[in-house]
Amino acid sequence: MKILNSVADVKTYISTIKALGRSIGFVPTMGALHEGHLSLIIRAHEDNDITVASIFVNPIQFNNKTDLAKYPRPIEKDIQKLEEIGCDMLFYPTVEEMYPEPVFDKYDFGQLDKVMEGKFRPGHFNGVAVVVRRLFDIVTPDKAYFGMKDYQQLRIIQTMVSTLKLPIEIIPCPIIREKDGLALSSRNVRLTKKQRSIAPAIFKVLSEIKDNARKTTVEEAENWAISKLNKYDEMFVEYLSIVDSETLLPIKDWDSTRSCLACVAVFLGEVRLIDNVMIF
Ligand code: AMP
Repeated sequence: MKILNSVADVKTYISTIKALGRSIGFVPTMGALHEGHLSLIIRAHEDNDITVASIFVNPIQFNNKTDLAKYPRPIEKDIQKLEEIGCDMLFYPTVEEMYPEPVFDKYDFGQLDKVMEGKFRPGHFNGVAVVVRRLFDIVTPDKAYFGMKDYQQLRIIQTMVSTLKLPIEIIPCPIIREKDGLALSSRNVRLTKKQRSIAPAIFKVLSEIKDNARKTTVEEAENWAISKLNKYDEMFVEYLSIVDSETLLPIKDWDSTRSCLACVAVFLGEVRLIDNVMIF
């Protein structure tokens, strides 16, 4: 696997690949790779001639300095995992390489970034859009792969690509979970043993919302789930919302003609986890 740190080197590599008429699949990540990330890379590998991954802990998408400082960065292990899985190239830039100048770009996503993650992490999606746009400009992939675990992020990227008419196909990929249902996340390593034992309740409660949809009102389902999760020691629900899959606006009534999903952000001690389950 080629490991490149500079934008210029990536551009040279990519132009050689393109000159050979080969397709490029791209998986942007912040590292601390787990089976969730690797599933995206495997999919990219299946669909394309060349698979490119990036590892960049993007400071401008963190609104919480402690979260940024504590973000795990096991680069040697990550490189080993990427090599084992057959990734062709890793772009691993420094902050200075990605942002040689201060960033002032502002994106308008309308309602899409005013709810859920956008509401509780102001500026987060602007930071995500800035970095993904830059990475897309550098890597110029044919296809880019995003996990449905970060569902709102996926909708933001789909919207950015269609608004800017970028010639990149966005491929949504399913959420990979532990056997007990906990969605894989780079932040899971920060959970204490006790927190880790409670964490599967998140998926369990979301699944119960799905299984019982229409038996109660939407609001009752949300309130039931919030109070159930808040009863666990050290668990605090920041938001839990049943939303339209396209607009991400909260739904008021069940309507099986429109796809919806239950999304949640919880704190388990200091660790903030998100998850979601598609209802229909
Ligand atoms: P991150 O490193 O957290 O920025 O994630 C990089 C990509 O991996 C994003 O598209 C995430 O949605 C995706 N991802 C993270 N966790 C999972 C998971 N458990 N299952 C599937 N995709 C995931």
